[in-house]
Amino acid sequence: MSQVSADTIRDRVRAAGVVGAGGAGFPTYVKLAAKVDIFLINAAECEPMLKVDQQLMPQQAPRLIRGILYGMTATGATQGIIALKEKYQPAIEALTLLLPPQIRLHILPDVYPAGDEVITIWLATGRRVPPAALPTSVGVVVNNVQTVLNIARAVEQQYPVTRRTLTVNGAVRHPLTVTVPLGISLREVLALAGGATVDDPGFINGGPMMGGLITSLDTPVTKTTGGLLVLPKAHPLIQRRMQDDRTVLTIARTVCEHCRLCTDLCPRHIIGHELSPHLLVRAVNYQNVATPSTLLSALTCSECNVCESVACPVGISPMRVNRLLKAELRASGARYEGPLREADEMARYRLTPVKRLISKLGLRDWYQPAPMEEMSTEPSQVVLPLRQHIGAPATPCVRQGERVSRGQCIADVPLGALGVSLHASIDGVIASVTDQAITVVRG
Ligand code: SF4
Ligand code: SF4
Repeated sequence: MSQVSADTIRDRVRAAGVVGAGGAGFPTYVKLAAKVDIFLINAAECEPMLKVDQQLMPQQAPRLIRGILYGMTATGATQGIIALKEKYQPAIEALTLLLPPQIRLHILPDVYPAGDEVITIWLATGRRVPPAALPTSVGVVVNNVQTVLNIARAVEQQYPVTRRTLTVNGAVRHPLTVTVPLGISLREVLALAGGATVDDPGFINGGPMMGGLITSLDTPVTKTTGGLLVLPKAHPLIQRRMQDDRTVLTIARTVCEHCRLCTDLCPRHIIGHELSPHLLVRAVNYQNVATPSTLLSALTCSECNVCESVACPVGISPMRVNRLLKAELRASGARYEGPLREADEMARYRLTPVKRLISKLGLRDWYQPAPMEEMSTEPSQVVLPLRQHIGAPATPCVRQGERVSRGQCIADVPLGALGVSLHASIDGVIASVTDQAITVVRG
């Protein structure tokens, strides 16, 4: 176990602005305040086009192990588990040599969504998180690889989060995985990959299943940017994301065959959650057929996208229907409370093999290795949004015209409030401070 105290670990992680790098952006120091028996590393990386964690693990294996030990000290966990896939052989080899007795590897099947933390916990420990509950309810804290590497840097060097590693993949000249300063634009990231190879490209922030549509390449890279996926605009993955809510609801209302395939393949449903997407689609068609509990169960949808991209034979998106329901329910302050039911006996076999997923998504022509490359990236300016995490936005503590250096705190969150600080990712001068973002110009 590490020699640093649990309090010091949490304080340094908070001061370094570490948040969940897997997408949610939950402040990590809060997770490290939980008391659990298992500290689980979600290294599944099951979105087919993303290649970050699987390459960081062999590259930084000693730091990853140290980060896990800090996490275990902070949470009191007696067991560390790194859940990863058999195909990540370089990672398995590098980590196996270094594993202390209290940390083990768990080999996950190559299925989607093995990286949905509720499913990762179930596959790696056999424990099932009840609907709407946190992993801590079953004695587990989950973090992804980049987050744990950031924990180690924060504790050992007290160095804040100023970089992000991401994959640029799909219709680009040189698919790659690269580490860039936070706040660099996606346009510059695309240029690092040699630009798009198609005339009319569309862009997804993250993987093909859960990534969102990018409407402007001026969007800056944040602590939670998943990756940059480039596809022809005519590709179904782009077209589906361009559908407006009205179209989504109209399709759901007109063509549902009530086959319930979406429910039979829903990862949350098969492990015993009430969530049944076919009933929610039915509910938007015939509002009187849904019980209040059925409607509220939309809040437990992980938006994994299996129901839309894998299950539905007629092009309905139960996920988007759920997202709309969730927005309404959250606005009214509603909460879901329901029991954990029996898991489907065939649950393990209902998860989608990644190879099949790549075909199903029409990605065979765009699937590339995207090797890790060291590149010097010196953007002339960076735009750092004040809200890159769940909780209160950071409050600027610098003024326009002030000189800052990389790693310097430029926005903070009051002690006691949920949130983390933000740091300059390059040396330069503060060009502007708004209620949304701070811009730093190199110089
Ligand atoms: S997106 Fe669909 S498949 Fe995934 S959890 Fe939600 S309802 Fe289930
Ligand atoms: S899979 Fe599609 S058609 Fe079948 S019940 Fe679900 S939404 Fe309806």
